[in-house]
Amino acid sequence: MAAKLPAKLEEVGEVRLETDILIIGAGNAGCYAAIEAKRRRPDLRVTLMEKAHIDRSGCLASGMDAINTYIKKNETVENLVRWSRAQAGGLLREDLTITMAELLNQAIEEWEEWGLPIKKDENGEYLARGRWDIAIQGSEMKVILAEKVREYGCEVLNRVVATNYLLDGDRVIGAMGFGVRDGKFYIIKAGATIVATGGAAGLYKPYTNDGVDSHHQIWYCPFNVGTGYAMGIRAGAEMTTFEMRWCAVRTKDFNGPIDTISVGYKAPMINAKGEKILAERYAHMGGDASPRFVRANAPMEEWLAGRGPCYVDTRHMTPEQVKTLKIDYLNERPSFVLFLAARGQDITREPIEVYGSDPYIVGGHTASGYWIDVKRATTLPGLFACGDVAGGVPNKFVGGCAAEGMLAARGAIEYLESLADRGQVDESLVAAEKARVYAPAIRQVREGDGVIPREMEERLQRLMDEYAGGVHQFYRMNRERLEYALKHLAILKDQTRYLVAHDLHELMEAHEIIDRLDVAEVLVHHLLFREETRWPGWQNRVDFPERDDTRFDCFVNSRRNPQTGEIEVFTRPYEQIIPGDRYRP
Ligand SMILES: Cc1cc2nc3c(=O)[nH]c(=O)nc-3n(C[C@H](O)[C@H](O)[C@H](O)COP(=O)(O)OP(=O)(O)OC[C@H]3O[C@@H](n4cnc5c(N)ncnc54)[C@H](O)[C@@H]3O)c2cc1C
Repeated sequence: MAAKLPAKLEEVGEVRLETDILIIGAGNAGCYAAIEAKRRRPDLRVTLMEKAHIDRSGCLASGMDAINTYIKKNETVENLVRWSRAQAGGLLREDLTITMAELLNQAIEEWEEWGLPIKKDENGEYLARGRWDIAIQGSEMKVILAEKVREYGCEVLNRVVATNYLLDGDRVIGAMGFGVRDGKFYIIKAGATIVATGGAAGLYKPYTNDGVDSHHQIWYCPFNVGTGYAMGIRAGAEMTTFEMRWCAVRTKDFNGPIDTISVGYKAPMINAKGEKILAERYAHMGGDASPRFVRANAPMEEWLAGRGPCYVDTRHMTPEQVKTLKIDYLNERPSFVLFLAARGQDITREPIEVYGSDPYIVGGHTASGYWIDVKRATTLPGLFACGDVAGGVPNKFVGGCAAEGMLAARGAIEYLESLADRGQVDESLVAAEKARVYAPAIRQVREGDGVIPREMEERLQRLMDEYAGGVHQFYRMNRERLEYALKHLAILKDQTRYLVAHDLHELMEAHEIIDRLDVAEVLVHHLLFREETRWPGWQNRVDFPERDDTRFDCFVNSRRNPQTGEIEVFTRPYEQIIPGDRYRP
């Protein structure tokens, strides 16, 4: 039973903890960070703070059917960088990608040792699904990882939501948050802090969301709302490449992953006329192997040109293949099998309709997130970042996020060992955060009325969709629309002082919307700054339709001034380590 809402701050209970390493987010990267920290330094206290429950939280909650990046026998780290660089329109941090790739296979092979079933071919090698993908039966992969975290003796605080960092100047000395079940305020002081809260979902209106009964029918984990980014933005951390949004082709009206079908079963994307879109119109970009931003854009172009709807053509598949395809989905997105059954759809006769997803900010797929160094240190002393919340390394996916978790743990230990002191908690900051966190609940008890989070979420998502290049606008945007978005984001931010929460769950939702507004504002600044179109499906400036290497062959970074709230946007140069044409794999 959840605790009652407090009528005043004095009623709120407190939990104070002191730990060596605090990891915020016990998803894939966070769990690997915890395991790596404990096995390197078993004497350290390692604490995970998790908004949901570690057994089934984050992107891996319902399982996976593939590991998208694994370096097979005939491949190299350098080749992975070349491929990923071309997939990302020539823009990634090569130093970070190399260090991630060097640990990639270790993370995956360990998972197998711990119990993850990985499919094998006739030679006993991992079963390839594409050049870098391998097929797994990953329905239980998160449970396996959670068990390992417990075995290593890490401390797990389930259902505790982080809301802000604990700061000593600009140094991060832990985090604060609240219990979604016990209602208590948590103040956790740490020697080093690792953020692993995943990416940001729910910034834009999804076409699958009817606002009533399919509120969370989206592709990315709906509980990853970008709080990790928001906490960094508020504390003045440098962020990178938010404008490289992740939009993907998904099954229409369901938002299910499509690589399972198009890569796994070589099903081509076709338009309403039955033309093979990628092979015929995008041969110069690699046809079916075109970068993902091309693939995301392709069905939208077809719709705009009057050639929609679009499909993945499954009509060549044998009944046996359909059966294994459904098993694959049962490993990753079980409800898709029910979706097909509910429609009575025989995919050997009727192809599966596809459409673009709503846009997400996801550092494990594109390069958005914290600006970090090779040790995964952010620009805030004491804070490390890994997984989807960390920037610079697109195409990390499952294995890369796990590898980065290990790197962040090593970085955090090194930092901890170099510390002369662990910093001072400023009680006035703690009191201010406590008042901020519980304000929507206390307002509801005292005033009995206000704006509920769902109402503000609807407004935010529509605003972003219509003015900042959402799926209903075929991802298109221009300066005027983006400026409109910024103006109205400011109005919404001002209205957060009317937010109310009727229970602890709604209190969590109130903070989810506050955090999304901070992330959305930075995102729009990035979209405005990049006056070119580098990734048509991800970032499509109709007023600057071409790629402009003279001005934008670089990273776009930002930093919000914690005192004034002003957002500064600037560039950082590209540094090439692996030779070759950056636009070809
Ligand atoms: C539907 C789907 C299918 C995918 N398919 C594949 C695939 O087939 N192959 C592949 O390689 N990759 C795939 N990926 C990508 C891959 O799963 C992710 O990139 C990776 O697992 C992300 O790991 P992470 O630890 O960064 O984030 P997550 O695993 O999402 O972990 C983030 C954690 O932070 C917690 N959290 C969030 N906010 C807070 C807060 N305020 N306080 C405390 N905790 C918080 C969350 O509850 C969560 O547990 C898929 C992703 C999705 C969503």
